[in-house]
Amino acid sequence: MNKPVTIISGASRGIGRAVATRLARENHFVLLLARNNEEITELELEIDSAGGKALSFAVDISNEKQVNEVVEQAMRDFGRIDNVINNAGIGIFKEADHFSEDEWTRVMDVNVKGSFLLSKAVLPHMKAAGKGHIVGIASDVSKRTFAEGSLYCASKYAQHAFFEALRREVRSKGIKVSVIYPGLVDTYFHEGDPGQPQRALYLQPHDIADAVSYVINAPHHVVIDELMLHPMVQEW
Ligand code: NAP
Repeated sequence: MNKPVTIISGASRGIGRAVATRLARENHFVLLLARNNEEITELELEIDSAGGKALSFAVDISNEKQVNEVVEQAMRDFGRIDNVINNAGIGIFKEADHFSEDEWTRVMDVNVKGSFLLSKAVLPHMKAAGKGHIVGIASDVSKRTFAEGSLYCASKYAQHAFFEALRREVRSKGIKVSVIYPGLVDTYFHEGDPGQPQRALYLQPHDIADAVSYVINAPHHVVIDELMLHPMVQEW
């Protein structure tokens, strides 16, 4: 099979869904990961009926066993994994002393441990192949902070640091690591449904899909280390 094999975490909604749809149109075999089985199964069918190829997996990205099973199945079915888009993420926003220990653990588990677990699972296969591309969807708050964002910012700084260090580690093995830092994107991440008038000028999920496509379609000799995007209405 000549199609690139690409795993996308958090593929059921928002940015991940737009990335999956875009890469499927670009002839990737996309493996869709999220917890909500109904939503990713629906997306799998939608991609297949549009002429693309997709497989969905209901997994919690912070569960090592579930993540490893997806990667093992991908290796059994396809014999390789070309790209991984680490996109699954959550945010909880309040004053620091109002967070429970459980909330701290949940955000860190999805945003930081999830990126670690998925990368850990694919790296031995990419190292053996001498190639592969790992992309992190971090955030502009991987590089700045804001009030009531202590937990989310801490998680996104950590995710950014993980991928930056990983790039140094695996570049010599032929593996690329790129990190995308979006500003405000109109998705379910924010309160209420997307499409509300006050968010009309935010970035749209397809803007981030364009960025992912640009990054992973870079020529063989080029690695795009990082890419930051903001809507014109957001001050940086
Ligand atoms: P979203 O619409 O809420 O989508 C989040 C996705 O992550 C969903 O598919 C969700 O599916 C999945 N997910 C959450 N917890 C998971 C878990 N434990 N295991 C597996 N999948 C999980 O949010 P989004 O805006 O597209 O966010 C995508 C990424 O972009 C996140 O990393 C976020 O931090 C980052 N980001 C967003 C913005 C923004 O303004 N929206 C800005 C900068 C960066 P299930 O619930 O079914 O698991």
